[in-house]
Amino acid sequence: MPGDALSHDPAELSKRIDTAKAHPARVYDVFLGGKDNYPVDRAAAAAALAANPRGYLDVRHNRDFLRRAVTRLAKEDGIRQFLDIGTGLPTAENVHQIAQRITPDARVVYVDNDPVVLAHARALLVSGPEGRTDYLDADFKNPAQILEHAAKTLDFGQPVALVLVAILHFVEDEEAYPIVRDLVDALPSGSRVVLSHLTEDLNPESIRAVQRTYTERGFTFVLRSRDEVARFFTEPPGLTLDEPGVVPVHHWQQDSAAPAPEAVDPAFLATLDDIEKVRYRDINDVTDADINVYAAIGRKA
Ligand code: SAH
Repeated sequence: MPGDALSHDPAELSKRIDTAKAHPARVYDVFLGGKDNYPVDRAAAAAALAANPRGYLDVRHNRDFLRRAVTRLAKEDGIRQFLDIGTGLPTAENVHQIAQRITPDARVVYVDNDPVVLAHARALLVSGPEGRTDYLDADFKNPAQILEHAAKTLDFGQPVALVLVAILHFVEDEEAYPIVRDLVDALPSGSRVVLSHLTEDLNPESIRAVQRTYTERGFTFVLRSRDEVARFFTEPPGLTLDEPGVVPVHHWQQDSAAPAPEAVDPAFLATLDDIEKVRYRDINDVTDADINVYAAIGRKA
């Protein structure tokens, strides 16, 4: 029901928010330069950066792939409905803002299982007047619940883009592949799957060092090869990979709109600690040696 996220019990929510343990959504927020994170999350981000000093580029380029992918689907492929599972904390450019700028009546259902995302979900529900957005507090591992709820906002008789961007590395194979298959089974013809995934193919030593910092903190952190990522597209019946296939994220349909570096007073920069500085660097300055994320889009026949 639209508004679920607005009717949560604050006491219940604060019980679920653990400020003594890093949360993936909040660590990701640190790398994006957001403010919705706690010292424990900044410490986790610092450990990951110590393992791979340019690791913030994975996050930045992943987020920019989401922008490019939604832009392409809305503008060129006529997709008007999005089911975004593993939404993350709201930032300046969420799926509905990107899609509704192109297609004002676009509809978006957001799904995440992190209570901090739920606490900030109000920002995800501010749709343009012609469109609709909804937020569901649910686990990827409950596809039936997700699909049932999504059908209240999305019309499953029309193409839907299933957005699984930077979430599947939190899920082991036994669940990840069958659940993606179940979700894709529910999509009508003409639907799309947008996916990004961490990999050890590109820079194995540095990403394995990062992986250790997260597994020490109790995160599931599965790195998948190009073939293993491609399997998300080849296993579900009727799904095929679009060009250019599974590619390092910064190669996926580059455009000229990637965020420019912010002009910052160097004296001010010098007062920031290393993690805060991250947000001021130039994301366009990147090579394959910096990146550990694959991206791909598929379509359903
Ligand atoms: N898709 C966004 C955010 C990625 S961060 C982007 O790419 O920019 C990963 C998000 O997945 C986090 O918000 C985390 O809370 C969420 N997540 C991880 N495991 C999940 C699960 N099992 N069910 C639902 N959400 C999950």
